[in-house]
Amino acid sequence: MSRVHNFNAGPAALPLPVLERAQREMVEFEGSGMSLLEHSHRGKVYEAVHNQAIALLRELVGIGDEYEILFLQGGASLQFAMLAMNLLHPGKSADYLLTGVWSKKALSEAKLLGKPRVAADTAKDGVYTRVPRQDELSLDPEAAYVHMTTNNTIFGTQWHYDPEVGSVPLLADMSSDFLWKPFDIKRYGMVYAGAQKNIGPSGLAVVVMRKDLIAAGRKDIPVILRYDTHAENQSLYNTPNTFAIYMVRNVLEHVKGMGGLAAVEKTNRAKAKVLYDAIDGDADFWRCPVEKDSRSTMNVVWRLPTEELEERFVKEATKAGFVGLKGHRSAGGIRASIYNAAPEESVAALVEFMAAFRKSC
Ligand SMILES: *Cc1c(COP(=O)(O)O)cnc(C)c1O
Repeated sequence: MSRVHNFNAGPAALPLPVLERAQREMVEFEGSGMSLLEHSHRGKVYEAVHNQAIALLRELVGIGDEYEILFLQGGASLQFAMLAMNLLHPGKSADYLLTGVWSKKALSEAKLLGKPRVAADTAKDGVYTRVPRQDELSLDPEAAYVHMTTNNTIFGTQWHYDPEVGSVPLLADMSSDFLWKPFDIKRYGMVYAGAQKNIGPSGLAVVVMRKDLIAAGRKDIPVILRYDTHAENQSLYNTPNTFAIYMVRNVLEHVKGMGGLAAVEKTNRAKAKVLYDAIDGDADFWRCPVEKDSRSTMNVVWRLPTEELEERFVKEATKAGFVGLKGHRSAGGIRASIYNAAPEESVAALVEFMAAFRKSC
């Protein structure tokens, strides 16, 4: 077996022990005579996995009974539309903090449903190199909610503070940094994440939402798109992505085994430091366009002196066993996604490769 150094932005690296466990359990699950993939989503065998995933998430983050945990399909993208459909009642406005491609997509969906406002936008010529400061937010106290993207996967920026939004519910797309460290769920009305960056396979969205917000959702929208439908049915209203939820359960168990979110944060900060130090340490050659206090610990982006050199870097890196380093097509440059499951050894190997590449130029 030869596994590469995987820096994919999403779907992204998964912990090897989690993959190996799935392999072991694939054909016959826990002596039940069949694969979990073949089990009914309403049977006891699957039910135990489903409930364990929820319990582990509650335990790891510290999520109280005032929040519901939902497993939904359609990824984070469906949430852009669904949260606005449920919470943006006719005539109401909502505040959007624009920090990149994903937050703009969320705003576009809300525009089809109501009158959202842009309450902050740090773009310069269409490029985002930082998140806003608290004093740059122009918030409407009457807004139905404030929407933010905690980590900007494409531009490599990340919020390093929870914005103060008064009594308006704060909704956060945490797709690319969910569970990268402990966080205070009570500051949020809702957080959601496509699973494929930090916690599992694609096609599954994890939603953590305050019960009173679920209850206040519109009732005149399709049943399948109402949060209360999924809450009342424990995310089993329709057949969920049972295998993805099983994988998330395994990732969460793995995270718990590593010492929980505090331990995960420590490793993540160490990985990011190694990479940013390498970039900053040779500023004549590498250049990170992101302002220091907005730098992402999950998606590290940087440039080389020319696009030709960037192309050559990606090409030679690929040959040397480093995958996924080409920046997003809308941002260019290089991007290394170093989510929870990216091993420290991969980051160390990348930094070594960078030094050798630099010498060869
Ligand atoms: C990847 C990503 C999305 C989109 O997720 P899908 O599961 O493909 O819908 C949304 N928001 C952020 C911040 C992302 O990184």
